[in-house]
Amino acid sequence: MPQEPKRRHSRQRKGKRRSSIKLSVAQGITCSNCGGTVLPHVVCKNCGYYNGKQIIVKKEKKKSKEKEKENDTSR
Ligand SMILES: [Zn+2]
Repeated sequence: MPQEPKRRHSRQRKGKRRSSIKLSVAQGITCSNCGGTVLPHVVCKNCGYYNGKQIIVKKEKKKSKEKEKENDTSR
């Protein structure tokens, strides 16, 4: 037979034990490309850049065409 607790722990004792248990806010770093807040060692969700390279290429057909037109006019 295993040992059983002889007495229940008081509310004070429980509260003291749990006083240090809390959620921590995840620390973020600034993206080198877009300047947004990103989790460290994670590809930026906003622009898809990591370590100065574009890892994720987003599918933006309409916007990309508009940007190309803008670039053509600027040149
Ligand atoms: Zn970014």
